[in-house]
Amino acid sequence: CPVIRAQTTPEYTPDAQFYKVEAILRPWRIPQVSSALLRMGIRGVTVSDVKGFGSQGGLKERHAGSEFAEDMFVCKVKMEIVVSKDQVEAVIEKIIAQARTGEIGDGKIFVIPVTDVIRVRTGERGEKAERMTGGWFDMSSPKA
Ligand code: ATP
Ligand code: GLN
Repeated sequence: CPVIRAQTTPEYTPDAQFYKVEAILRPWRIPQVSSALLRMGIRGVTVSDVKGFGSQGGLKERHAGSEFAEDMFVCKVKMEIVVSKDQVEAVIEKIIAQARTGEIGDGKIFVIPVTDVIRVRTGERGEKAERMTGGWFDMSSPKA
């Protein structure tokens, strides 16, 4: 049974029913992050291989000079998770707990309001489409 902690939800702007938590993380931390998310009932996740630069890439760039060479980009994984508003903070906390090393290059998380969710198979929209069978909501509110 998952431990669901009471979360205080900050006032995200603009307000929405669903948000996309988009995390750019170190590739070798992804297995840890996804197992932890799975354990808390997160079933819908999209990942892609990406390249980018932040402070970590910038460091390389100073050594390389002012030209943007392809090799200054660092390989990262982008993880996108659409959840309902009251799940956002717990997902962020879990990602940080599993992905953080404390070194430059740990990544960044963006929170993006989502206007609607549509399940292609059924045409369901909104809450019905966002909800995953056996997911967090089902785990935290077992049927009588
Ligand atoms: P169905 O019941 O029809 O299978 P589903 O909600 O389980 O619908 P899928 O069709 O299995 O969704 O999902 C297709 C892909 O969409 C997944 O592989 C994943 O990449 C992405 N996805 C689904 N839900 C989410 C979500 N909440 N956040 C991020 N990505 C998601
Ligand atoms: N909010 C969904 C649920 O509780 C989970 C969403 C997700 O797995 N990304 O079922």
